[in-house]
Amino acid sequence: MQHSKEIRVGFAVLAGRPNVGKSTLMNVLIEKKVSIISHIPQTTRHLIRGILNTPSAQIVFVDGPGIHSFKEPLAQHLNAIAKRSLKDTDLILYVVDTSRQPAAEEEKIIRNILLAKTNVIMALNKIDKRTAFINDYIKFWQDRESKTRGKKSKLLYYIPISAKTGQNLGGLVEVVKENLPFGYPLYERDTVTDFPLKFRVADIIREKLFLKLKKELPHSIAVEIEGIEDKGKVVYIDTNIYVNRVSQKRIVIGKEAQLIRDIGIASRIELESVFGKKVYLDTHVKVLSDWQKKLRILKSLGYDDASS
Ligand code: GDP
Ligand code: MG
Repeated sequence: MQHSKEIRVGFAVLAGRPNVGKSTLMNVLIEKKVSIISHIPQTTRHLIRGILNTPSAQIVFVDGPGIHSFKEPLAQHLNAIAKRSLKDTDLILYVVDTSRQPAAEEEKIIRNILLAKTNVIMALNKIDKRTAFINDYIKFWQDRESKTRGKKSKLLYYIPISAKTGQNLGGLVEVVKENLPFGYPLYERDTVTDFPLKFRVADIIREKLFLKLKKELPHSIAVEIEGIEDKGKVVYIDTNIYVNRVSQKRIVIGKEAQLIRDIGIASRIELESVFGKKVYLDTHVKVLSDWQKKLRILKSLGYDDASS
């Protein structure tokens, strides 16, 4: 890479409770579909980095898992990643949903953000809806901040936005940019995401599963990519879909295998646009009780830094 001058370069982690619009926001900011969007919370299982390149900045947005309260290994692992990501960043973009009252779960998020000792920008999202609760979120923050002793994160701005209509997103990018350090780009300037291909493929398939299954099978499903083989004109992708019970397998496959076929078609269409060529997708639905607790499976799904 050749650099003539330093630009604004750094990481901005999106934090906030599920469904506030973090993934939507990241996708519109970088104008590419890298992050899974779903009405069902907690579908973003890895930290996804989306990179916004402008002539004067390279902003690396990180959209990670939320903080969970349950105790199983997978949840603990995700919490560790989420907390670490807050400390390991130049800026936290704290996203809230202004159409909904701040609730108890907000408290835990603010606590973790304050403990990270980082600069914070609060994005008051969904202003295209009723915005009755803007002031409640600001007050909520101020209250928690005044009660936190010692060194803590600092709120630099709050900015009302709509990830859906695009309102104020230019302004948001400006304040994010202004608060990043000067440096040389970390990634090639045409990079949109550094999220490993395998997980990006798994997320696309997982999103189609969620969209087709709606609320029927939210948390007990895992997508494992066995292999991706580029054979020139065609990319072959071999996938395992894990569920906990036989009854769930039946749901995923559907009547006369219609559902799994629809999921395969929808996935293939999107994958073909990602790869820019024909995709052959092989999906196997497998029953594996307690896959959430089996470390080998967690490893092949990419959750292999659980102890760090
Ligand atoms: P995340 O869990 O925080 O990543 O939230 P998502 O990005 O998955 O969004 C949750 C839901 O909120 C989706 O249905 C989005 O379409 C919707 N959403 C996100 N941003 C906005 C917004 O600015 N306005 C409205 N009306 N809906 C939004
Ligand atoms: Mg998300």
